[in-house]
Amino acid sequence: MKIFQNFDLKERNTLGLRAQAKYYAEPESVEELKSLLSDDLYRSTPKMVMGAGSNILFRGDYEGFIIHPSIKDIRITDEDAGYIYLRAGAGVVWDKLVEYAVDRGWGGMENLSSIPGCVGAAPVQNIGAYGAEAKDTIFKVEYLLYEGLVEKTLLGNECRFGYRDSIFKRELKGKGVITYVTFRLSKIPSINAEYEDVKLAMNGVSEPTVFQVREAISSIRAKKLPDPAVVGNAGSFFKNPVVSKSLAMQLKESYPDLKLFPAGEGECKLPAAWLIDKCGFKGSRTGNVGVHANQALVLLAFEGATGEELINLSKTIIKTVKERFNVDIEPEVNIC
Ligand SMILES: Cc1cc2nc3c(=O)[nH]c(=O)nc-3n(C[C@H](O)[C@H](O)[C@H](O)COP(=O)(O)OP(=O)(O)OC[C@H]3O[C@@H](n4cnc5c(N)ncnc54)[C@H](O)[C@@H]3O)c2cc1C
Repeated sequence: MKIFQNFDLKERNTLGLRAQAKYYAEPESVEELKSLLSDDLYRSTPKMVMGAGSNILFRGDYEGFIIHPSIKDIRITDEDAGYIYLRAGAGVVWDKLVEYAVDRGWGGMENLSSIPGCVGAAPVQNIGAYGAEAKDTIFKVEYLLYEGLVEKTLLGNECRFGYRDSIFKRELKGKGVITYVTFRLSKIPSINAEYEDVKLAMNGVSEPTVFQVREAISSIRAKKLPDPAVVGNAGSFFKNPVVSKSLAMQLKESYPDLKLFPAGEGECKLPAAWLIDKCGFKGSRTGNVGVHANQALVLLAFEGATGEELINLSKTIIKTVKERFNVDIEPEVNIC
């Protein structure tokens, strides 16, 4: 396995920001990963794991060691009357895995079609879209701890999944590498086409298949979201804020078009895109950064943009939303 020094990350992050990693490696197996991490030089160097870099904002160079797990095998590990258990390496491209499952008619991942990134990152923020989340199908996650190079397995219900949240963003953050994820997929899929856009696309189809749902969602996403190959972005830059029911009701009274979504007990989730749009940011540009004209949650990094420019724009948005609505929004993107 080659270990690169001063490795250029511009093509490895979807925001297209200029940055270098002091060291960079792509281990292709757990054994390679272990042998890399047992070397004294790397053991004592700061480390971070990176998949496809579609949810990372580099402020500047990373003065440490970036590990890109390139473990790429997909295997059925078990099967019963209702389910298939599919184990995929952290380096498998997420959408390739969705395609693999959908092509075989297995259900559970189709609503997460066309999300950029690798399998290893899916549990980290419990990726979600169109009424589904990764946690709905994650059966177990295999993890290699830096400390002692111990291999651990967490069952789905031990991963503390929440809205764009998991144990890997909290207690286990920076403690190791997700190596494999096993998904439990349904042989008799139950289709979830309740999301407004998906329902519209399925109009006239009485019993949609997982394949049709995947096709519809991929085409909706291609129309709505900017392609990182054309303009740098990391998808939704902010999470939807969860606020007290009383604040949500107050806001609803002043802004009847504000949609409220159920969250925990006594709480509501608000659409951050609506809040940002109401503050007038949608379609705006400041220097080399801006806000997407079709989706206010997406910040854009035009050629020459720096991480600091994006962070400054995000701070201005956060401050303006707070002043106008008394609501705190926070980045979904990982700032490094
Ligand atoms: C156009 C676009 C659309 C998007 N749409 C969605 C969407 O609909 N829903 C959604 O949830 N997200 C969406 N995203 C965000 C992104 O695709 C997901 O967060 C994805 O899971 C990130 O995968 P990645 O491999 O690029 O991870 P990276 O960006 O490389 O890493 C993300 C985080 O996970 C950690 N990590 C990555 N791999 C591992 C591993 N093997 N072990 C331990 N930690 C690891 C990293 O350290 C980092 O903290 C979108 C992004 C873009 C650019």
